[in-house]
Amino acid sequence: MNMYHSEAYRTAFLSYIRKGTPIKLSRKEAAETDFYVWRTQQDSKVRGAHRIHDGRIFSWVSPPPTGHPGQDFNCRCQAIPYIPGETEFAYHDITTDLASTGERWSDTDFVRHYYFGGGGAVDLREIGHLYEIVEQYAWNDKVEGAFRRLAGQIADKARTAKSSAFTLTVNNFYDFGSVQFSHGDGSVKGVFNGLAEKQGKIIKISGTTDFEFSDEFKDPLGYDIEVGGTPYFIEGSWSANFSAEVSVEKNRSNYFDPNT
Ligand SMILES: [Zn+2]
Repeated sequence: MNMYHSEAYRTAFLSYIRKGTPIKLSRKEAAETDFYVWRTQQDSKVRGAHRIHDGRIFSWVSPPPTGHPGQDFNCRCQAIPYIPGETEFAYHDITTDLASTGERWSDTDFVRHYYFGGGGAVDLREIGHLYEIVEQYAWNDKVEGAFRRLAGQIADKARTAKSSAFTLTVNNFYDFGSVQFSHGDGSVKGVFNGLAEKQGKIIKISGTTDFEFSDEFKDPLGYDIEVGGTPYFIEGSWSANFSAEVSVEKNRSNYFDPNT
């Protein structure tokens, strides 16, 4: 199920994703200190806690809470030496506070709201599910998580964009049933707005993606019964900054959409 449910891990993780990583380095700084890009094997055996590091730049003198690649038992992650202007990286930093503002809803609460909520929409933050939905979407969807796939899609768009400013919209249904049964197939729409700048062999990309979750709760028993409940929407939103440097040439890059 979910790897991030310990309170200690959650606290460390939240502070980590908000702080970001020391990537704004001058060439001189990068030469004087040893940095690496964390790269996972991108398969189902990768620890969730390591998947969130994929594509990020770290310093050997300042490891993330998990330690460096390869330090954990059976970890197959790699540390790719970071050479500014040559080594690819790409990561999303969530900029929205994901903390709950209300008690976490159980399936019973969803059903109760169906009968007594009068059809009023509910917000993921208010029902204590925003963090888990974002985590599931970003890093645990399918094998690699939607963030990793989005990085490839953004890289492709940056390669073909006619101007430096560009936009990309993604919209899909996801199975969020492991967060709560009631979130069977919520949709997430992401709108990326960013800038791309070609510099030699790489394209520098920066921007922000705004995400919107939407689901409708209806018919909790799976068939129409005559008890007069009212369907309602479950909504939520969050944003993430994106930073990347990817190869100009798609066939020499780790970042591309394998489905195009
Ligand atoms: Zn690992």
